[in-house]
Amino acid sequence: MAAPVTPGPSASPAPVAPGDLSGGGSRGPPDPPPEPKQLPELIRLKRDGGRLSEADIRDFVRAVVDGSAQGAQIGAMLMAIRLRGMDLEETAALTRALAKSGQQLEWPEAWRPQLVDKHSTGGVGDKVSLVLAPALAACGCKVPMISGRGLGHTGGTLDKLESIPGFTVIQSPEQMQRLLERVGCCIVGQSKKLVPADGILYEARDVTATVDSLPLITASILSKKVVENLSALVVDVKFGGAAVFSSQAQARELAEVLVGVGASLGLRVAAALTAMDNPLGRSVGHTLEVEEALRCMDGAGPADLRDLVTRLGGVLLWLSGQAEAQDEGAARVAKALEDGSARDRFERMLAAQGVDPGLARALCSGTPAQRRQLLPGAREQEELHAPADGTPWLRVHLDAPALSGPQRRALQEALVLSDRAPFAASSPFADLVLPPPRPTSTHTQQ
Ligand code: URA
Repeated sequence: MAAPVTPGPSASPAPVAPGDLSGGGSRGPPDPPPEPKQLPELIRLKRDGGRLSEADIRDFVRAVVDGSAQGAQIGAMLMAIRLRGMDLEETAALTRALAKSGQQLEWPEAWRPQLVDKHSTGGVGDKVSLVLAPALAACGCKVPMISGRGLGHTGGTLDKLESIPGFTVIQSPEQMQRLLERVGCCIVGQSKKLVPADGILYEARDVTATVDSLPLITASILSKKVVENLSALVVDVKFGGAAVFSSQAQARELAEVLVGVGASLGLRVAAALTAMDNPLGRSVGHTLEVEEALRCMDGAGPADLRDLVTRLGGVLLWLSGQAEAQDEGAARVAKALEDGSARDRFERMLAAQGVDPGLARALCSGTPAQRRQLLPGAREQEELHAPADGTPWLRVHLDAPALSGPQRRALQEALVLSDRAPFAASSPFADLVLPPPRPTSTHTQQ
């Protein structure tokens, strides 16, 4: 049996043989197909550390989508996978089964090199997708982004966008094609037509303590991206206190599984390891993050957010052959932030995905104070003060009249005062795991 892909740092993924996911070929007449197993048997097999075949995984996913699997059975299988892991072939089979639970997206052949996307494993304050999708569209890319909702303690891109009145995340494949023709990008959710099985498992993972599973994360992310029919994908794999995995070693393991399984499915994936010990940017919360994303598209805003947007964009432009080097790609993304062309694409995407065009215009052309008036906000704000010199260090937006005592205490305990000089804001970008080179590729690695 191949090495299990478990969440612990000790598990090392077995090498992937691209294109060979059959589990070994046999000679002579094919055996008759085995009888499908019942769900309790499949769950027992994984619970006891066994290996699920491609057909077993397909049957499980079919039962998830057609409603014959009970919630308890879905939760039990997820927990068995979370505890026992999956090898790379099982992970690839799960990815394929999730992707095939809905429709595959097809695009005009002329778009092939331009089709790129980015996905994140999730981190507090991560609003990169809101900025990067329109910035890449401004650089000439087509970005059919199928994104996610909040998972565990991390917020979801879809939830953030839905805080803009009118924004509609459910778009049919035909509507997505029109969005790519007219705007160059869209940010949508999975639906009954798009990777429905991932939608069901995603919700179940969120309430069964099975979010932090390498094979489940890998299959969830890559199934959406396989459906998108991309030329290149970059996954932002976060590590640190505000991410799903705290250690860089665990994040690297996940990055290698994502890149390896992606390659075995014909998807060109690079995985960036990025630090998440602090929230990204300075704001956390749906509308606050939309405001901060707009500041980034004004060519301003926090340096760590801008750094990540430009570097991830640079990787994608280079990986898809649209830039000679990552730095050149990053400079093009930076220019799209500075000259307003990314913000212009964002405005067009909002209007094309259901936001009143006047509101989209006002949001994108307004000052930060005007934007605040246009977006729904919490009823109250409360500032917390540093105990030493009395300056406010945190502003909490809340609907309750005030923070409770335990809430205030928990927040204050997060503040550490030090007499050392403040640390310089450094780039969150720590490392990059690249896909195997294409035999005919003319790229040079940096
Ligand atoms: N994003 C996803 O789509 N799935 C995960 O499991 C984690 C992040």
